[in-house]
Amino acid sequence: MVNVLKWLGVLLLGIVLGYVLRDTGLSRVIDERRAEAVGTLASSYIASQTELDDRTDVKTVAGLQHIEVGVDQPAADVFRASGVGNTFLIRTAEGLVLFDTGLATQAAKHKRLLQEAAAGEITHIVLSHSHADHIGGTKFWLAEFPDATVVTHARFHEGQRYLKDLERHFWSRNRLLYTFMPEEPPDSGMNVYGGITPDIEVTEGAVYAFTLGGIRFEAIAAAGAEGDDNLVLWLPEQRLLFSGDFFGPLFPMVPNLFTLRGEKFRDPLAYVRSLDKLIALEPEIVLPSHFDPVSGGERIRQDMRRMRDATQFIHDQTVAGMNRGDSLWQLMRDIQLPPELALSQGHGKVSWNVRSIWEHYSTWFHFESTTELYPLQVRELYPDIAELAGGSQTLAARARQSLEAGEPEAALHWIELGLAGQPDHRELLQARLDALNQLLDRAYEQGSNYSETGWLKSRITATEAALAF
Ligand SMILES: [Zn+2]
Repeated sequence: MVNVLKWLGVLLLGIVLGYVLRDTGLSRVIDERRAEAVGTLASSYIASQTELDDRTDVKTVAGLQHIEVGVDQPAADVFRASGVGNTFLIRTAEGLVLFDTGLATQAAKHKRLLQEAAAGEITHIVLSHSHADHIGGTKFWLAEFPDATVVTHARFHEGQRYLKDLERHFWSRNRLLYTFMPEEPPDSGMNVYGGITPDIEVTEGAVYAFTLGGIRFEAIAAAGAEGDDNLVLWLPEQRLLFSGDFFGPLFPMVPNLFTLRGEKFRDPLAYVRSLDKLIALEPEIVLPSHFDPVSGGERIRQDMRRMRDATQFIHDQTVAGMNRGDSLWQLMRDIQLPPELALSQGHGKVSWNVRSIWEHYSTWFHFESTTELYPLQVRELYPDIAELAGGSQTLAARARQSLEAGEPEAALHWIELGLAGQPDHRELLQARLDALNQLLDRAYEQGSNYSETGWLKSRITATEAALAF
């Protein structure tokens, strides 16, 4: 009985304490400190699992995981919390405006550091698009400033809807590319994806303008490289462009018109129109939500033009090839950017854009074979074909020849034929490891595409595990 009373007393104290703390905001602060501690651990684990490969001499997306969380001031009254994604805070005499809120695991620290740098009331939260690395801190900020006006693109809602509906599908694909991710998506607390309701939705082609403390802000809906729900924030008097992921994580780069992890296609011509619109603004400083700000009006203009012209070039070359009757596979091999339009392929890749544009216009039926129309895939016949070809040993020898000729793609076809019937065949597994390593070397030489290297590394790990078994 005494124990029960003691237990009830503790329970009552907890309830009272929770109520009192919630009223004073202390409970929220305790939650934030706890989230910061967990998030800091998660960030250092992820960094330890993301190697900065020394074979590459270009800036790669992998570098994002190694950015220290800190605060700097890239322009007067503009504060940036850095990390995988940046959170920007713009100070005015009448309140503070946030642009993007970073990754959920880094959000509590972003919030603390920014509030230490510039305290005050948040009046607006402008979100560049619905990706988790840009909206992750929104709930933390809204918990303290529930009256802040959340501004998004009108398509943000739909972006958040389908990313949430397909969360498990995309999560499992992401985990293959980025092996540091936990097994399951977070299902409780502030880290859960989604649930953000915009107050202002800006339709494509429109601008939502407001003035705060004498500073004019323009939130411009501009379909971008990371989705058709992209919104940028423009400060015309300061000529500052908060670009979110309008350019993608690397500036300048070949746009990622689709992503290997899966997501909706991004229309290249809508992107060209958006680029034209932003070029006309003549920004002096671009503040992207990944990596560092870029300054210099002329340089920014040149890079934006190159991105626009390269996107148009890839589109037009693909369309011309389709009209000539070239096969998709031929176009993926043939279409290359001319030297004057050369750009990083660290995130988007020309040959994959060609395929995306081709299938965007002409869908998945390539008119190559009747078998394309039906669910039975040639892979299901592989064990029989392998037997007819002379068995796994013969295929392993053939794969080895391809590898020696520097043809790892051909080798992989022979290997997959052989492994379909005999998944443990050691010579074939060893040949697969060698083929994947050849492809990885080539991927590094050709610009270190983050998705490509991520996929190849994950297959290498799986093959090494199968060989060790
Ligand atoms: Zn991003």
